[in-house]
Amino acid sequence: AAGFGAHASAANSPLQLFVRAKRKINEIYGEVGDYVSSAHRFLTVTSSGVTSDLAVVSPENKKLVSDHDRKVSSIREVLRRDHMKVVFFGRTSNGKSTAINALLGDRILPMGIGHTTSCFLQIEGTDEKEAYVVTEVQPDQRQSLTSLSQLGNALCEEKLDASAKVRIIWPKDKCPMLAQEVVIIDSPGIDVESDLDDWIDKFCLDSDVFVLVANAESTLMLTEKKFFHKVSERLSNPNIFIIHNRSDAFAGEEMQHEVKAQHSQRAQAFLVQELNVCNRSEAEDRIYFISAKEALQARLQEAKGQPPQISTEDFFTRYLEFQKFEKNFASCLSSTAVKTKFAQHTARGQSIVNSVSQILLDIHHRSQKRQQSQVALRKEIGDRLDSTEKQLEQMTHEMKEKIHQITEDVEYKVGKALSEE
Ligand code: GDP
Repeated sequence: AAGFGAHASAANSPLQLFVRAKRKINEIYGEVGDYVSSAHRFLTVTSSGVTSDLAVVSPENKKLVSDHDRKVSSIREVLRRDHMKVVFFGRTSNGKSTAINALLGDRILPMGIGHTTSCFLQIEGTDEKEAYVVTEVQPDQRQSLTSLSQLGNALCEEKLDASAKVRIIWPKDKCPMLAQEVVIIDSPGIDVESDLDDWIDKFCLDSDVFVLVANAESTLMLTEKKFFHKVSERLSNPNIFIIHNRSDAFAGEEMQHEVKAQHSQRAQAFLVQELNVCNRSEAEDRIYFISAKEALQARLQEAKGQPPQISTEDFFTRYLEFQKFEKNFASCLSSTAVKTKFAQHTARGQSIVNSVSQILLDIHHRSQKRQQSQVALRKEIGDRLDSTEKQLEQMTHEMKEKIHQITEDVEYKVGKALSEE
């Protein structure tokens, strides 16, 4: 039942927009590829062994179509690998790893004390059955991943640089979100001393969504704000979500509504006025108060087909808010990724198809003209032959006459001479 639940929710997820668009554009590019490569083959065959003064295919045509053919192959390669990308930022221990695990519905990332994320962790899906880890230093070497504590320890032992990236490759059939082409990146805390510009260059430029994991118990910190100022200087209109995590700490507190309202206002002012990345009403869908810890617990229970065992006050309200975040985040992620990843390739595909069909049309016209001029040539030669034949006939006739006359004349003269003798 749990398996079915996960499957059904995947089918209804807003992420399907991207998944379907990706399938479609890959199908279309398959057809574009067939068209362009058969045009390429045709041009190659048609132009081989033909002398240049008879050729209907110019070397420029051939080169252009061959370039298009190569271009389509490389676009198809990119399209096969395209995915949606989201990066999580926040101060150490705000609960980034827990929030990511809650979205993934499983304990994939190591969490908690002693497992502070010291480098960038990229989680992506695989069709294979076993999980493994790949580091930047040894990209061809898979390290098998049989337990989570093993991953945590491995990351601690390796003493990786804060801007290093470790890829965690996780079986898609164990995680519906990864099966839907999402790649998630967890970052070291933005309070860690490091080169933030370098981080942005390396991890943010192709990200579709950014999630700031803040702490519900405190207002946004300067380090958090500074980082996103840098991001929005580099990217035009980044999609930023702010989740105030650890909201369970408010449970039962009298002042919680006032505190939340204050944090909300500040987060809104940050997105709308300071960063200018969205308007006031859009900002409402970008700010949440959740408990990643509770959400993860609930998801793990659901996976077993059991109800969550959480008795903290207002748990369901927080869990509902988590689900709302999950839904809005997924639809922003997929619609942005469709636009940024596919719009350009759609236009490119169209212009390639137009260019190739124009070339084929030109060739068709040229060969038609050539055919017409050959017919005309044959006619002209035919006419000329005809008149030559007639002239010949005439001449032969005249010759016969002449010969006849000459013979008659000779006969006459000879006859006369003989009679005179
Ligand atoms: P990270 O450093 O930002 O990745 O933080 P972690 O996800 O490792 O979380 C740090 C600690 O905070 C862990 O012990 C989590 O169990 C705890 N934690 C995370 N989210 C919550 C939450 O919503 N509520 C509470 N009470 N604790 C949380």
